[in-house]
Amino acid sequence: MAEESRDYAAKRSFKQTPEPPPEVAGDVDPGTAPPGKTFVIHQHHARRLHFDLRLEMFNGGTPVLVSWAVPKNLPIEKGVKALAVHVEDHPFEYRGFSGSIPAGNYGAGEVRIFDSGRYELTEQAKGKLTFRLRGSRLKGVWHLIQTRGGKDWLALLSDWQGEPPEPVPTGPPMVPGATSEAFDDPEWAFEPRLEGQRALAVCGYRSTELLSETSQEVEVSLMHTMHERLVALSAVVDGVISGSRGEERFVAVDLLYLDGRSVGAEPYYRRRELLEEAVVPGGIMGTVTSVPRTGKAVLQAAQDLGLPGVVAKKLDSIYRPGPSEDWLEIRG
Ligand code: MN
Repeated sequence: MAEESRDYAAKRSFKQTPEPPPEVAGDVDPGTAPPGKTFVIHQHHARRLHFDLRLEMFNGGTPVLVSWAVPKNLPIEKGVKALAVHVEDHPFEYRGFSGSIPAGNYGAGEVRIFDSGRYELTEQAKGKLTFRLRGSRLKGVWHLIQTRGGKDWLALLSDWQGEPPEPVPTGPPMVPGATSEAFDDPEWAFEPRLEGQRALAVCGYRSTELLSETSQEVEVSLMHTMHERLVALSAVVDGVISGSRGEERFVAVDLLYLDGRSVGAEPYYRRRELLEEAVVPGGIMGTVTSVPRTGKAVLQAAQDLGLPGVVAKKLDSIYRPGPSEDWLEIRG
């Protein structure tokens, strides 16, 4: 059966998936193949979320991506062992792949690039690799050790070489400092105002904590997995918990902190770009619609949906906790 094959091409129909076809057949031995220079880690929202670590190595003269599926991603703390399942080599072209594998195909779901960059193999033996990653998120040295000679390997952090994180902002969230009539202006963006509980999602590498407007912890079922919908080492997302119990969703409206750095001093339009890159929409998490310029049309659309109004946000404004006139409330 194709599903049990280790062969990249046998698992896929290249007429149906946007993934690239292979250039060479078969898999190399990671213990002996000549190493290349680049790596990528895909964040793959398949039936189960997992991460795919891919190291460039050579199959004859052709670069390929030697790959491990790492359910919990590479550890960023010492002493943590992460399972890494050695899977089929992927074509080198796959390192730039990001997008959606259509339903019904092998690995169907959203694929994002969690990290990429240069790597250096500092130890290469049968069943054991030590490598340094110089990614934009992951910076450090890891070991990969094969267990019992099979497809299961263990990943361990040897040395973290990234900058220490900045303190995590904990609120209160920014709120409109005044009300206004509906207006159109190219220097502003307009979002429907959502009904629900405003909260900050403080997302770590492997956990999420929700804080209310008064920085009290909020206990909401399902929401503790929100970090899984983010492409990030860490993040603080401002949003609204909407919907009824059991069908709750978190709709993101802003981003305060990303990968250990505060982004509150970035202008709103830049924070919005970072937010859209970070959130993988689906399941319990979405992002509010944000439309530049046309406040009157957004108010009309919000009213058609039965929403209570619109929030106008000045495109070049920084994120300031509490009331600010850079955000305006527009009621119908
Ligand atoms: Mn995968």
